[in-house]
Amino acid sequence: MRRAFSVIRCDAFWRKGNWASWSTIRELLGDGNDENEFIAMTTEKARPILGRGRFAPSTTGRAHPGTLLAALLCWLDARRVGAEIVLRLEDLDRERTKVGYVDQLDRDLAWFGLDWDRRVLQSDDRERHEEALDSLVREGRVYACDCSRARVRAEGRPAPDGSYAYSGRCRDQRVRAGRWRAEPRPLRVHLDARRRELRDESGKDLSGDAAELFGDPILRRRDGAFAYHFASVLDDAALGIDRVVRGRDLVPATILQVALQEMLGLDTPVYRHHCLFLERHEQKLSKLHGAVDLETLRTRYSAEELCGAIASFVGLASKGTRCRPADLVADFDWARISDLDVELRFDAAVGLSPAKR
Ligand SMILES: [Zn+2]
Repeated sequence: MRRAFSVIRCDAFWRKGNWASWSTIRELLGDGNDENEFIAMTTEKARPILGRGRFAPSTTGRAHPGTLLAALLCWLDARRVGAEIVLRLEDLDRERTKVGYVDQLDRDLAWFGLDWDRRVLQSDDRERHEEALDSLVREGRVYACDCSRARVRAEGRPAPDGSYAYSGRCRDQRVRAGRWRAEPRPLRVHLDARRRELRDESGKDLSGDAAELFGDPILRRRDGAFAYHFASVLDDAALGIDRVVRGRDLVPATILQVALQEMLGLDTPVYRHHCLFLERHEQKLSKLHGAVDLETLRTRYSAEELCGAIASFVGLASKGTRCRPADLVADFDWARISDLDVELRFDAAVGLSPAKR
């Protein structure tokens, strides 16, 4: 009895060479496995849970190589240390999320070999997003903005994420408590001007004054959807996420998320940003997106070949490796991963290949 208690008190276990979360063990126990067997197996290597990470793709199409790289790195980062990993499907963009996209993305990630301790749909949390907006409205911080994109651009400085810092022109149009639901215009929040010092886990400097860099951010868009940064920080907090691993394209906006967390009284997780897969359009390099999706990749690769190829592009495996994500857990180390973005090409005959520098 005492031994069983000691196991239940722990949250992560060494199982088949990997740290498995307590929820995984519980699932296995539920399948009629012998509890004593697990107790014997885990007594020596049980240790407290080391956090919870998440992979949070937007559900606007099939997985592409960039999606799979981000998913793989989030998953390995968590599995390596016995943290839990949540799949959060970000489906708030009604215009771009089509019927079937959510299930397809689920299937794509499962085919690639990734599993999750928990899976959530962002749209299921609408009530919680509304409550948070309610409280900011009550504090008198939220206002309706009727500026066109052209006006925001004309009056604002370029923001670090490629948008334009909002001038604050509509701040007088404060929304009264209980009235925001009927408001057809985009809603912004008045952000406190203050510089915040922050580095991500790899040492990237994320410091800055979000109000100066971005202006007051939109919380709810014209189409009624909650804006990405607002929903994202609320959901991270609600899920108890303490590690956020994501592409370095989100580096510039991190300080804005931190300012929102502060305003909402939420903890700031540890951030880690990784390199991106890029593609060349004429002279310009951009984030690899949509040029080649999993439907096309599956005509050329098995799951093991594709996982090995993606791992090899960032330094996690040698060229020609065939593997499942679970095979990469034991040797996973951020120090092995290239900090440089990788330019990829796709050719139906050759598959994906890094462009020569
Ligand atoms: Zn405005």
